[in-house]
Amino acid sequence: MIKQITNLAFFVMLSVAAVAQTSPQASNGQNQQRRRNQPRPFALTVNDIAKTKVDTAKLNAAFKNVYPGFAVADGYRTKHEVTMRIIDTTKDFTLKAGPGEIVANSKWLKKKQNLQNFQQSLQDALHKNWVSVDTIKKDGYQLVFINKNEKFDPTIQKNLIDTYFEVYPKLVNMFNDKSTHEVVFITDTTYNGVAETLGNRILFATKYMNKHPYDVDIVTHEGMHIVQGYGYGSGPVWLTEGIADFIRYKYGVDNVGSKWYLPAFKDKKEGYKDSYRVTARFFEWIDQKVKPGMIVQIDKELRNHTYTADTWAALSGKSLDELWAAYSTSPDLHLVYSSKNI
Ligand SMILES: [Zn+2]
Repeated sequence: MIKQITNLAFFVMLSVAAVAQTSPQASNGQNQQRRRNQPRPFALTVNDIAKTKVDTAKLNAAFKNVYPGFAVADGYRTKHEVTMRIIDTTKDFTLKAGPGEIVANSKWLKKKQNLQNFQQSLQDALHKNWVSVDTIKKDGYQLVFINKNEKFDPTIQKNLIDTYFEVYPKLVNMFNDKSTHEVVFITDTTYNGVAETLGNRILFATKYMNKHPYDVDIVTHEGMHIVQGYGYGSGPVWLTEGIADFIRYKYGVDNVGSKWYLPAFKDKKEGYKDSYRVTARFFEWIDQKVKPGMIVQIDKELRNHTYTADTWAALSGKSLDELWAAYSTSPDLHLVYSSKNI
């Protein structure tokens, strides 16, 4: 399934996304801390140790066309300031490139043809560990799937793709029709978490996915983060994560298959701040017992930046702590989980 990307539109899409990203970076499992995505400029410094005096404008143009797309796929941690070293070596070496560094052999680069094809060579070097890139389009939605792990189970990949096309358009239609229709999935062999979302890009840890092949509703949780698109500073992280898991409970396609459930209520002061599933259960209780649709309204206000701590009382007549206190006295709920094998 190895496919070369030759479609420049893909990189344009990634580059645009790098600038347009405003949604909260959030994670499903680790790191509850919200990180912001500040678009930082990409810069190339050419260090011509070999005194080749090649046309640096040409190198810069190639860099600007190729590196931003790579950086978005590589992740927000990737380096934006890149040094290119042009070195003298008699070895059979041509070019290597990665986050923050490009190294080229002066003899190779001095050949007119190689300099002319530098953009393609740079792209190939940057994508060296990309096992496959698939672009799938369906009913006005697009998914680019970049797999970096040759041992990643293709069945899991297919199931993640299917879940995207089943769930994501639904979430966009229901909660935020301005949300992007173009999403990037990327697998990472070194990432120790579960998954994380930044802008329109969802990163999956293949270590986790290979061990939990049925946890396809990570797509639902992370896809909701894209749809949330609250931007930096709108509401606390526990609320963002609680809503994403509430949506996973409601619209996930196979929560039974992944043994995903909302944990039994535990009495605790400000327990709603425990985030994720604990908060999601509380939200389901609000939805069933207090005011149907209220959590969706909270989601809307977070997106509109009209949410404040008083929003709970404005919508239900009870403050957040009062709602939690009421929940504590009678937390019983009828819960129904989605399953692919009914
Ligand atoms: Zn999350």
